[in-house]
Amino acid sequence: MTTAVTIANLKPRDFNLSSTLTQGLPHSRSIRTPRTSAVVAVSATSDESNGNPHRVRLNNAYVEALESAGLVPVVVPPLTGNEAVHAILSRVDGLLLTGGEDVEPSLYGQPRSPKCGESNLARDRTEIALVQAAREMRLPVLAICRGPQLLNVALGGTLIQDIPSEVPNALGHNAREDRAARVHDVSLEKGSKLAKAIGETDITVNSLHHQSVLEVAPGLRVTGRAPDGIVEGLESSTDDWWVLAVQWHPEEMNDSPEPWDRGIFKAFADRLAGG
Ligand code: MN
Repeated sequence: MTTAVTIANLKPRDFNLSSTLTQGLPHSRSIRTPRTSAVVAVSATSDESNGNPHRVRLNNAYVEALESAGLVPVVVPPLTGNEAVHAILSRVDGLLLTGGEDVEPSLYGQPRSPKCGESNLARDRTEIALVQAAREMRLPVLAICRGPQLLNVALGGTLIQDIPSEVPNALGHNAREDRAARVHDVSLEKGSKLAKAIGETDITVNSLHHQSVLEVAPGLRVTGRAPDGIVEGLESSTDDWWVLAVQWHPEEMNDSPEPWDRGIFKAFADRLAGG
């Protein structure tokens, strides 16, 4: 009689190169054991472009940055209803809000500017429900690019719909030629969670956005700004909910010689590990 081995009753330590399951698999040497078991729900988008099937989509840079920090990403697509968000968040350790489409302006009480980009209402509604559930559960949140904008709207704030047409003398914030180019400065509040994570108060960041936070929602505070005043960093204003939000794209800077951006993911991982 043989004993059946199923994936369900394997423990993480069973996934090693000597396992009979992995022997002979062509990619077995690429199997890595995460440094922590902390699992992060990662918001993604969906699109129907170019006649393709309706697809869920996430830039892989987020996956690489999370894995590099020892975190385990789980993708959360736009959902057709919000009933599942508590079920999802009750099974993970943190939430990452990612970049993407402009948030639907009616969700923060503004008429749509002609300069506002396309919105994905299903994604907006799913992510707003995720933020509100995360706040109820005090689940740590890291928010990137669209992330701080969505977070701010979910908590009652508003947005600048288009920086070039609404902010005179603004810097260039939409430098898409090179996603990893450091194109403008950001000053961080000394002693803030963000400055501690990055290890500096004056840095230069990449910038791939044309919208930003306008009126800051209750419960959030600004801890980073560009020289033109544009909000580049936010965090929770109370200690009972860990929230860190940046307007730039630290996930694109995983290989940067400066450790600043990896510090953001490390701070998230440390918090999820209970630090
Ligand atoms: Mn910027």
